[in-house]
Amino acid sequence: MFSQFALHERLLKAVAELKFVEPTPVQVAAIPLALQGRDLRVTAQTGSGKTAAFVLPILNRLIGPAKVRVSIRAVILLPTRELAQQTLKEVERFSQFTFIKSGLITGGEDFKVQAAMLRKVPDILIGTPGRLLEQLNAGNLDLKEVEVLVLDEADRMLDMGFAEDVQRLCDECGNREQTLLFSATTGGASLRDMIGKVLKSPEHLLVNNVSDLSENTRQQVVMADHNVHKEQILNWLLANETYQKAIIFTNTRAMADRIYGRLVAQEYKAFVLHGEKDQKDRKLAIDRLKQGGVKILVATDVAARGLDVDGLDLVINFDMPRSGDEYVHRVGRTGRAGNEGLAISLICHGDFNLMSSIERYLKQQFERRVIKEVKGTYSGPKKVKASGKAVGVKKKKVDKKAAGAKAAPKRKPAPNRPKAPALVSQDGLAPLKRRKPAAE
Ligand code: AMP
Repeated sequence: MFSQFALHERLLKAVAELKFVEPTPVQVAAIPLALQGRDLRVTAQTGSGKTAAFVLPILNRLIGPAKVRVSIRAVILLPTRELAQQTLKEVERFSQFTFIKSGLITGGEDFKVQAAMLRKVPDILIGTPGRLLEQLNAGNLDLKEVEVLVLDEADRMLDMGFAEDVQRLCDECGNREQTLLFSATTGGASLRDMIGKVLKSPEHLLVNNVSDLSENTRQQVVMADHNVHKEQILNWLLANETYQKAIIFTNTRAMADRIYGRLVAQEYKAFVLHGEKDQKDRKLAIDRLKQGGVKILVATDVAARGLDVDGLDLVINFDMPRSGDEYVHRVGRTGRAGNEGLAISLICHGDFNLMSSIERYLKQQFERRVIKEVKGTYSGPKKVKASGKAVGVKKKKVDKKAAGAKAAPKRKPAPNRPKAPALVSQDGLAPLKRRKPAAE
């Protein structure tokens, strides 16, 4: 029950209006500590209810009689526009019975309109780092009186290259009393570095380990011979699975466009979302998907970050994501807030080792599914190592003498070339593939 928290009655009224009955685990863990004013570092997966876990304590702090606003009192930083928009909606829903006003600052929107909004001084400002800094540099933003700062999806902001921008904004909120940092994963060295710099004696709440992902979402893999075969399997799945809405992930824009083209040709109501699409297209795609006019979204990772769409119950990884964290983000689009979800990854020869690294990272094995109607010949490597990876086929040694070949001249070792550090997943066990530069 939400009444277990020392929240203002107007907030409890809003919670009841939203038909939230039981708080989620992250809300149970974080709300009381946040209400005490503690700094928190929360590791909670997407869809866990983490937005309410920080929004309710902020509103509780700011609640009071209507008055002339003189300063921005809380800032929520997020990695993407969509996530910022969704968070604004959530804040507005929870603050509907209060006088608290919120504002949104993201890229892709009119700079002057935003500046005018800032002149009215919202109590809570929600935004993405890049545009917030531009507004700050233009002299439109004063963060000196900010009391609470939230860094949501902090790991994602770092992945997207916002480390310096976030740090600068944290410095601007130099008089803050509380900082709350949320991330879907435990992150790497750069997240630890940021935590050390911006949080004061934080409580670490590890609410959902990444390996809990499977709770509401079945995770399956289907073996495929090659990309054309993957397309056949995809067609079968879209025609035979029961789903309200589906999202198909690819690793490249070109593949997203190709699949989208094929779906449209088959008269599926689909949309494609990738980094080349502008803000208008992205908004349209998400709105149509939310309203149900479109059932299938084909997307690359960057484009789909932070999507929270009701009824998204099928995720298909046409290409296997390049890291365990990316997998968690993709599959986290479904099975949200207790709903059932299904995630299916299509695995060809080239995806197998990546899949087994991700299984080790998540400490779980995906269900192997065989669809007899579209079964191919590849069923995984003949032999696997203890790590779960395929045993490589050794090249036959050629007897050079017998072949009469000249022995190859010995090559000098390259002078002091620095070795790239090995990438190791967060459990410290399975080396993960180095991420290619984002193609999205
Ligand atoms: P989030 O992880 O904050 O993105 O939340 C995922 C979804 O769960 C959102 O649509 C929230 O409105 C919803 N939600 C959050 N907390 C609860 C709750 N206690 N009961 C029901 N739904 C919730």
